[in-house]
Amino acid sequence: MQSPGEFEIIDRYFRDIGHRADVLLGVGDDAAVLEVPPGECLVATVDTLIEDVHFPSGLAAADVGWRSLAVNLSDLAAMGARPAWTTLSLSLPRADTGWLAGFAAGFAQLAETWGVALVGGDTVRGPLVVTVQAMGLVEREQWLTRSGARPGHLVVVSGTLGDAAAGLAAWRGGAGASQCERTLVERFTRPAPRIELGRRLRTCASAAMDVSDGLVADLEKLCAASACAADIDVGSLPLSEALRTVHPVDRRELYALTGGDDYELVFTIAEESFAALCAQQGLPVACTPIGRVRRGRGVVCRRHGEAISLPVAGYDHFGAGAAG
Ligand code: ADP
Ligand code: MG
Repeated sequence: MQSPGEFEIIDRYFRDIGHRADVLLGVGDDAAVLEVPPGECLVATVDTLIEDVHFPSGLAAADVGWRSLAVNLSDLAAMGARPAWTTLSLSLPRADTGWLAGFAAGFAQLAETWGVALVGGDTVRGPLVVTVQAMGLVEREQWLTRSGARPGHLVVVSGTLGDAAAGLAAWRGGAGASQCERTLVERFTRPAPRIELGRRLRTCASAAMDVSDGLVADLEKLCAASACAADIDVGSLPLSEALRTVHPVDRRELYALTGGDDYELVFTIAEESFAALCAQQGLPVACTPIGRVRRGRGVVCRRHGEAISLPVAGYDHFGAGAAG
């Protein structure tokens, strides 16, 4: 079969992902036209995934598709927004129909889970780079920010930490032997954006962000934005059964504190608001207090109250050790 051209690629794989009544004009024209309901605000975010930087080459195309949307929906979750629309810019070395079909299937699977419509994009030849923009909606004045943390508030995280970093290491090591390793690998390949939790937090959290670069690195950003400091108790970190099974205590704590890619939410909240949140029916994901906000700067990790230092920081694209 002859490899498809740009128009055929769009038509075959990307014209039909998600349908919404508020898409007045979608894929096929010069731009999309989207209807924002009165009283709501548009929340927009974009993330680029480069092969060998953000995902290893050889990762299944469907996983690349899922992840490229998931990391963006996670940003919307951190804002308290409900996802609505997405655009996709694909740079491809060649028109590999098997890869495209897999990519589109993974992307569509997550898009359909959250009722997100793909409304436009760009398709070019070049190194494998996937850029996804996600747009969501949030009620006026209800969006979450990084800047509202106040001394005395609890620091809380959703789900479990460190799994995705351990999963990537397992994937690189050719894992798949044990069920635990497979569970960890899936946390890397199929992150679950915490949309429902973000929606709940809108009216009770003081600050929130998603954990993409590692807990400590990301919490430092939240603290900087809020002009305060935080103490974390490493003994309180929520660790999965799988991570506990596969890695000894030092390793799993390091993964949980510095490993990226978990896409959990870290948020700050007044103690009484957290109690009220926990008392609600059907919290969408477990939420664990791991520390407290105080006056000052930066994040201090403590074991039994004693400050500990970490051997490595989170990922910084332009920092020492980053791939060029
Ligand atoms: P233009 O040259 O006017 O920017 P294109 O020929 O690049 O338009 O794209 C044609 C239509 O297909 C546009 O509506 C564009 O948004 C859409 N499109 C292109 N690539 C993608 C993609 N990878 N996913 C979704 N829509 C796409
Ligand atoms: Mg045009």
